[in-house]
Amino acid sequence: MEMTEISNEKTGAVYKPSNPWQAVVLKNTRLTNQNSPDDVRHILINVRNSGMEILEGQSIGVIIPGTDESGKKHRVRIYSIASPREGESSNDIIALTVKRVFYRDEVTNELKKGLGSNYICDLKEGDNVQITGPIGRTFLLPEDNTTDIIMIALGTGIAPFRAFIQHMYHEKQTWQGQVLLFYGAKTGLESLYMNDENNDIGQYYTKDTFKAFKALSNTSERKLVQHKMRDNIDLIWNIMQKDKFSLYICGVKGVEENVAEVFQGIAMGQGLSWDNLFQKYKTEKRWHIEVY
Ligand SMILES: Cc1cc2nc3c(=O)[nH]c(=O)nc-3n(C[C@H](O)[C@H](O)[C@H](O)COP(=O)(O)OP(=O)(O)OC[C@H]3O[C@@H](n4cnc5c(N)ncnc54)[C@H](O)[C@@H]3O)c2cc1C
Repeated sequence: MEMTEISNEKTGAVYKPSNPWQAVVLKNTRLTNQNSPDDVRHILINVRNSGMEILEGQSIGVIIPGTDESGKKHRVRIYSIASPREGESSNDIIALTVKRVFYRDEVTNELKKGLGSNYICDLKEGDNVQITGPIGRTFLLPEDNTTDIIMIALGTGIAPFRAFIQHMYHEKQTWQGQVLLFYGAKTGLESLYMNDENNDIGQYYTKDTFKAFKALSNTSERKLVQHKMRDNIDLIWNIMQKDKFSLYICGVKGVEENVAEVFQGIAMGQGLSWDNLFQKYKTEKRWHIEVY
């Protein structure tokens, strides 16, 4: 698991694992259709009186109750905050997007439940949950609202971008720069915040500056996120040549490598070295990756 450019120590997080905040669960709803094998939850947590000030792109830690076989406390699990600084309807409330994880045990080949995600996905209204954070200083939106933004997400990687989009188009504010979202999911049933269960992001499709592209891998379309990006390569390159743009990649580890091929292709087509271009963007702090 990787936490790019994020460190609890560096952030001066308000609540640390040694000093967590006890929050209360307000709501836990399913974001994927009942017919989908994936159970992804939208979880609202009340952080009233915690004094937490959150920025879009930050995460929180969740303390998993109990200890392992050797009596050690469980590792804190990290989750992106899916709501903007303005909060989820109130700035006392933050949202998380959590996928219930299952995996095969390496030794026994038994199907096992991911400890943290199952604990969180089973939380009920009124339950207490201990949280840490906010965590993260780099996966953040620029202040200048004329900056062009490219967001690339897979699965629950959409969580910080829901926060970005809600902040960018909050009430009377409208982001002036061009905003592109490339999102990869298996089918429409797993298109988080862009499906029949919850269409929060779909509401922004009519904004002049916003364009969303869905890549559905398990449909007749059979597109992966990198394919959808290749289909729109001119739009992407047009933005990447500007002085002001920021690019963000979030989701399952490996997505950053898959989409790197698209950028290598773009660079090659322009007779440029992708390694040099990538270094330049990194140095200029325009390239942000958060994979796990
Ligand atoms: C910055 C950041 C942001 C994140 N944001 C989100 C988010 O918004 N939403 C979200 O759902 N997740 C997010 N995650 C991932 C999350 O933190 C957890 O890693 C995830 O929920 C799985 O945790 P778990 O406790 O359920 O699984 P664990 O019990 O920790 O298991 C995790 C994985 O370890 C492997 N594993 C563990 N034990 C064994 C074993 N005995 N044999 C074989 N394999 C094994 C399996 O691959 C398993 O899937 C984020 C992670 C980071 C670092």
